[in-house]
Amino acid sequence: MFKPRFSSWLVVASLALFASGCATAPRRRAAALKDKAYLRDLCDRHAILWQWDPVAQVVSLDVEGTKARLLVGSDILLLGKNQVQLSAPVSILQSSVMVPSDFKAKVFGSLEKTWTGRKEYSLRKVRGVVIDPGHGGKDPGARGFIGTEEKGVVLDIAQRLKKILERGGVKVIMTRDDDTFISLPERTEIASRSEADLFISIHANSSPGRGIQGVEVFSLADLGTLEKNEAQRQQNQQTMFKDLAMKRNPASVEDIVADMLYTHKQAVSPTLAQEVAGKVARSAKTRNRGQKRARFFVLRNTLIPAVLAEVGFLSNPKEEKLLKTASYRQKVADGLAKGILDYADGR
Ligand SMILES: [Zn+2]
Repeated sequence: MFKPRFSSWLVVASLALFASGCATAPRRRAAALKDKAYLRDLCDRHAILWQWDPVAQVVSLDVEGTKARLLVGSDILLLGKNQVQLSAPVSILQSSVMVPSDFKAKVFGSLEKTWTGRKEYSLRKVRGVVIDPGHGGKDPGARGFIGTEEKGVVLDIAQRLKKILERGGVKVIMTRDDDTFISLPERTEIASRSEADLFISIHANSSPGRGIQGVEVFSLADLGTLEKNEAQRQQNQQTMFKDLAMKRNPASVEDIVADMLYTHKQAVSPTLAQEVAGKVARSAKTRNRGQKRARFFVLRNTLIPAVLAEVGFLSNPKEEKLLKTASYRQKVADGLAKGILDYADGR
């Protein structure tokens, strides 16, 4: 079966971001586009779902058993068992995959024959999720008035979430599955080794104001150059790029891929955060404090789309009591799962 090593729909997201560039640099864009087309545009027009594995540099189209695979930098593509010669290599323009002008006829021309009558395909955007229950072991996290510890609450919610996601066909990797202390760097290393598409860290909040309650979900605020070069981030990048297929000019390819990963993450994570916050608030009937931006360590140093959910306030006596109950934790987990699965299914 079709198993991309890393299944981010990178280009779909980054294209949306770069669309504004069209208006600001029309002349350069026109010249660059002369003999090329955006793969995303072609696929949209033909209702074809596709995936881009930025690490292996492979673009895959896979519908009803017909596979097409392209390698960035190569003018040969594999269509089923056949090799097809293109007039020019597949390339990258401003973080988007570009294909030569004969691509459409040579690839879609033949693919469409086998795809007639079928307009909807359901390839998931998410195959693997890293669940990161905050704190653990010697680090209890926040503590409520009646002594409820964050580390236990979030582990239980994480385990419930794991069950639901697995039932939904998603592979789950836990950064901890018991009451163990795991350092923040280690959590991000687990994520970069995992080949997952999504990272969710689960926490419970604390505030000096006892009345404050509800759920809020963070995504990464934009990073400056220094933060992008943070040692842990570079190390995780090396882990993820270990198998990078392109040997030619590897440094610049890595830069491009790193840039695309960041663009994708920044385009996707806020939407996911908003989805998740809304679904938890609805499921647990709690206040939706919405989507927020921050530069938490685990958000900075993961390369895949990442969110950090603060599922409730242990400093609020009412919410602490709720968070102690299995039924409330289940509702929170249900909401988290719904947010993730709706995103995964592109709803
Ligand atoms: Zn916490």
